[in-house]
Amino acid sequence: MSDRKPSPFPILLNNDVCSLIQAADDVYQIRFKNRAANAYLVRGSKRTIMIDVGLSSNFPHLLECLAYLGVKPPDIDILVLSHEHLDHIGAAYHFTGRTIIAAHRLAANKIMLRDDFSMLRKMFNEPNVPIDVDIWLEEGNLIDLGNFRLNVMYTPGHTSACISLFDQDKGLLFAADTLMPGGVMGGVFGSGSISDYIQSLERLRGLDSKILLSGHGRLSDTPQDDVKIAIQRSHALLSDTAQLFDALDARSNFEPIMQSVRDLNKLDDS
Ligand SMILES: [Zn+2]
Ligand SMILES: [Zn+2]
Repeated sequence: MSDRKPSPFPILLNNDVCSLIQAADDVYQIRFKNRAANAYLVRGSKRTIMIDVGLSSNFPHLLECLAYLGVKPPDIDILVLSHEHLDHIGAAYHFTGRTIIAAHRLAANKIMLRDDFSMLRKMFNEPNVPIDVDIWLEEGNLIDLGNFRLNVMYTPGHTSACISLFDQDKGLLFAADTLMPGGVMGGVFGSGSISDYIQSLERLRGLDSKILLSGHGRLSDTPQDDVKIAIQRSHALLSDTAQLFDALDARSNFEPIMQSVRDLNKLDDS
C-alpha cells in the first residue's frame, strides 16, 4: 500500500501526444507532451472559453481533446491569451470563426505588430501567420461565463504583458507562466522584470486560491504553498542578479550605454 495521496484530478484521455485532465466541474486541462503550453477549457452556463491554446502544430491534438468533450472550435466564445509567447498562442490563428480573441493590451499590441522577437517565433519555429486580438484586456476586467466569473489580474514579470485569471468563488487561479506547481517560475524575458514578478506573486499570495492551473506542468491543489516557494525563489533571483551585476565591471560595461543616452539628450537640446 502506498501512502501517496492519489491525484484529485481525473485523467479523461491520455495518449502519446496529449492528455485531458479534469481540474474541476466544467474545467479541463489539455496537456501536450512537447514544448507547447497547457490549454484550458472552461464550460460556463452562458459562455465557453479557452485560456491559451498551445503551438499551432498541436492543433489536431487540441481538436481531439475538445472532441472528447463534445466541443468544436465554433463552440468556443472567447479565447483568452495569457501573454504573447507562441508556445501559448501559436494555434490561435486557427480560431478564425466566431471566437473572440482577448489578451492584455500590451500582449495584444505585440501580437498585432507581429513582434516576433517578443513572441519568440524562432524559438518555437512557428509559422508567421497573423493572430488578430479582438479585445484588449486591462486589470480589473471581468469575464462572466454565468457560473464562472473570471477576474483579469495584470501580473507582469515573466513579460510585461502577463495576465492571470481568478475565479474567487471557486478559488481557481489560472496563472500561466507567472506561477507553476512547486513554486517553479517562468523566467524573466526581455520585456519582463524580476521586481514586477515579485509584486505579481505577492498579489497572487493574497488570493484565496484552491486550485492552480498553470501554463506548464500538472495541476496543483496547493497554490498557497506554491506561491510562497516562488516568492522565496524570486528574491533569491533578485539577489543573484545583483551579485552578478557587482561581479561585472559595471563602470566599463555600462558607461558606453549611459554615454549614448546622454549623447541622445544632447542632440535633443541642440
Ligand atoms: Zn511565457
Ligand atoms: Zn510558457
